[in-house]
Amino acid sequence: MRETLKMETVIGLEIHVQLATRTKLFCGCSADYFGAPPNTHCCPVCLGMPGALPVLNERAVELALKAALALDCEIPERSVFARKQYFYPDLPKGYQISQYEAPLARDGHLDLELPDGTTTKRVRIRRLHLEEDAGRLVHDPPTGRTLVDLNRCGVPLIEIVTEPDLRSPEEAALFVKQLRRLLRYADVSRCDMERGELRVDANISIAVDGRPGTKTEIKNMNSFQAIEKALKVEETRQRMALERGGTVQPQTFGWNPEAGRVEPQRAKEEAEDYRYFPDPDLVPLLIDEAWTRRLRAELPERPRERRRRLQEGYGLPAYDARLLTEERAIADYFERAVALFPKPKEVSNWLLTEVFRLLDEAKLAPEDLAGRLPPERLVEVLRLVDEGRINRNTGKAVLEEAFRTGREPEAIVEERKLGRIADEARLAELAERVIQEHPQAARDFKAGNERVLGFLVGQLMARTQGRADPKLAAKVLRDKLAAS
Ligand SMILES: [Zn+2]
Repeated sequence: MRETLKMETVIGLEIHVQLATRTKLFCGCSADYFGAPPNTHCCPVCLGMPGALPVLNERAVELALKAALALDCEIPERSVFARKQYFYPDLPKGYQISQYEAPLARDGHLDLELPDGTTTKRVRIRRLHLEEDAGRLVHDPPTGRTLVDLNRCGVPLIEIVTEPDLRSPEEAALFVKQLRRLLRYADVSRCDMERGELRVDANISIAVDGRPGTKTEIKNMNSFQAIEKALKVEETRQRMALERGGTVQPQTFGWNPEAGRVEPQRAKEEAEDYRYFPDPDLVPLLIDEAWTRRLRAELPERPRERRRRLQEGYGLPAYDARLLTEERAIADYFERAVALFPKPKEVSNWLLTEVFRLLDEAKLAPEDLAGRLPPERLVEVLRLVDEGRINRNTGKAVLEEAFRTGREPEAIVEERKLGRIADEARLAELAERVIQEHPQAARDFKAGNERVLGFLVGQLMARTQGRADPKLAAKVLRDKLAAS
């Protein structure tokens, strides 16, 4: 009988993140290429015309340094740009400007918060470097041709390489989520995965009885779901091969989300195939202490620290604090609103339900919320409800209208006469009618069945679309019933 093998999954990630700069890494072309007509964001530099010289974008360096600092990396004084040579139609220069032997940063880490919310796991960052993006090949099925769009050529990226510290596909997806959150907090990148602003490749192998296994590489994982699914598929494939006594071959796969499988790509290139050498057009990049000190001071509170502060400082449940700090823009919004209306749990409730629903329906990014519905507006609605001038349901409708139209909640309430009805004469009139329509209920009440009053109040509320002051309505009904 064969012994059971002790297998452990080992995953390392390579993550490319597009930096949130206005222009490209080595020229003044706009980096905002997404959706632009093909080949309209290009110049001799990013097209690799002979004689055109690159000029480094300082802002890109700053953002890359911020990412490195957020990941607690060491930042050497000197880093070097290198040419990575390969031939592919999306790379007009015949090489990509990257960093190789002397990257911008190394030896960092991210403390991954595990799902139980209390423990963390340290994932080491091997290196973080700057590089330019390549163009895009667009397949054109009607003609069967492949077209080249060079708008993306030269767009600034950082590549983040982890040590193989991840032990499951779920952990890998969780890591990318938390990395994304951290980079969004630091304004390094929007990390919009649908736009390809964060792209993930992975190395995966199975260690058997503590002996390292052969790695394969999975590319083209462009969503959290894809990361988890693709790695699961490959993990299962490798484990089954090993259990049957087979081997794993080094190979590169692409994830095909439609088919739900990994598909072999070109044979994996080794570093020596790229013939890296220092780019003679670019001087070494020197980073001094003062620069990193200034950038460090600009970094915002980290998501984890902020969550703890929100939970403890405002007495919020852990659940609320977690959701509110997923996005820095939402946490900022929450704190601005609470400064104006110091009932944190109430603000949190409205944000997490009503405001999140509106954002979702409008397909609006969290960072656009304050522009659409300033915190002052939300607070105005909360005050109207708090003071009893409108009820909660009306409050929701007013909030929705304020969100859609940008109008003042007060003005909406005035104009649409949504305010609570606390006019006794008006309610007395309505009470009279309700009693006439429900003679049996009125008789039951008089016979001593107090509970019928609730039913009659409900009828009155319905006639006013919930706007009647319920306490006053009950009093008026009671008076009328006693008098009749
Ligand atoms: Zn250009």
